[in-house]
Amino acid sequence: MLMNLSVIEKIDKYGLCLGCGLCESVFGKENLEMRLGEDGFFHPKIKNHDEEKEKIIQKTCPGLNIINDIPFEKNEMVWGHIEQLSAGYSLDQEIRTKGSSGGIVSAIGIFMLESGKADAVLQIGGDAADYLRNQLQVSKTREEVLRCASSKYAPALVFNNILKLFEENEDRYCFIGKPCDISALKNILAEYPQYSARIVLTVSIMCAGIPSFIGTKAIITDFHAKEPVHNLSYRGGGWPGYFTFTDSLKKTFKRTYNDSWGKTLNQHLHFRCKVCPEGIGIQADIAVGDAWETKDGYPDFTEKEGVSLVIARTLRGKDLLSESEKMRKMSFVPQKIQSLRLMQPYQYTRRTRAASRRFAFFLATGVKLNFRNLRLYETLWLTKKHLILKDAWGTFKRVIKFRRR
Ligand SMILES: Cc1cc2nc3c(=O)[nH]c(=O)nc-3n(C[C@H](O)[C@H](O)[C@H](O)COP(=O)(O)OP(=O)(O)OC[C@H]3O[C@@H](n4cnc5c(N)ncnc54)[C@H](O)[C@@H]3O)c2cc1C
Ligand code: SF4
Ligand code: SF4
Repeated sequence: MLMNLSVIEKIDKYGLCLGCGLCESVFGKENLEMRLGEDGFFHPKIKNHDEEKEKIIQKTCPGLNIINDIPFEKNEMVWGHIEQLSAGYSLDQEIRTKGSSGGIVSAIGIFMLESGKADAVLQIGGDAADYLRNQLQVSKTREEVLRCASSKYAPALVFNNILKLFEENEDRYCFIGKPCDISALKNILAEYPQYSARIVLTVSIMCAGIPSFIGTKAIITDFHAKEPVHNLSYRGGGWPGYFTFTDSLKKTFKRTYNDSWGKTLNQHLHFRCKVCPEGIGIQADIAVGDAWETKDGYPDFTEKEGVSLVIARTLRGKDLLSESEKMRKMSFVPQKIQSLRLMQPYQYTRRTRAASRRFAFFLATGVKLNFRNLRLYETLWLTKKHLILKDAWGTFKRVIKFRRR
């Protein structure tokens, strides 16, 4: 049945399209448009087929291609290359509070602008009037960067204008995104090398998966709030911060991170995220997540002052962090690599099971995911054999169920 479909249609039908929007940029909106589907995710809708452009997507689509270009040794096989590992936060209280964790990502963006190292920050921002409109913003001031602070646990159009943006001017950019966004960006730069010098720094947030907009809607509905809602924020204003919004009657609602992410949003994750080979920013200059403290072996989500987990993966990233620390913009405390498993238990499991999930996906579909230089098969052996089999079987069943929808 899938034989007659184009490459992009197949990517989408197999549940691999992350809705990043790159297709629209490569094809032009008049030929292909990203649309929000009933499943609460963005999908490409082809109006005019073009085989040459499909070939570009086959090589650059992050749903299919995760090609790491920062080599790492066997002793770094789970967490990727680490130049510097620390926990830290912005020394500017406004940035720290508005950020999801310690505000490090926003602080880096602002530092890049204020030091003149970048002309603009490319990052995902929302729309106070409509939570469905998460898209790439070009931030040129501290205020613009701060407007984008805090995680949006929902789909976002990241690349639907990227080529036009590169063509329009000569600006140098600091790019902030999820690990698969960093992969997509690198795939784009490999395909269009004339734009390579335009990206001066990449910063990845760590990522456990994107929930559909149905997840967001489920929380709003649960409150019986009157739509349309405004100023919806998934986090921020503390650590971990609350899911908050105001309804059309101007009533404000809030829900804890544990209840919003932990009980609802994570029930609506994208299918592709289940076979994600890395959610820890292995390819970025700097990767940032939550430096969760642990209580009884589990991350502790009690509200407190935010602290980010910060991994510099390149010398460029490390130098930038050192400079910002010297300028009293951020504060860091070195961490041991062993602490990563305690702070990010889900990411450890994902990295050590990614090979079995990829294999199960291949068995169920015949499609080989182009995940390269990630040491997936070496990390697999850190997991007990019966768990590998159980995990692969779970993925196999999930793929079959997805394809029957
Ligand atoms: C879907 C998702 C899943 C996540 N899963 C994990 C996880 O498993 N473990 C973990 O430690 N951390 C996870 N995070 C990251 C975490 O929530 C914080 O973003 C991170 O701690 C950085 O905090 P900060 O205060 O330094 O960032 P901030 O200063 O708040 O900056 C956050 C940056 O992220 C960008 N951003 C927000 N939403 C998106 C989005 N949907 N797509 C692309 N960019 C976006 C913003 O533009 C902003 O620049 C996740 C984030 C998201 C969006
Ligand atoms: S390039 Fe992006 S929008 Fe296009 S199929 Fe891949 S993930 Fe989907
Ligand atoms: S889990 Fe992986 S594939 Fe899914 S959004 Fe995050 S980085 Fe991308």
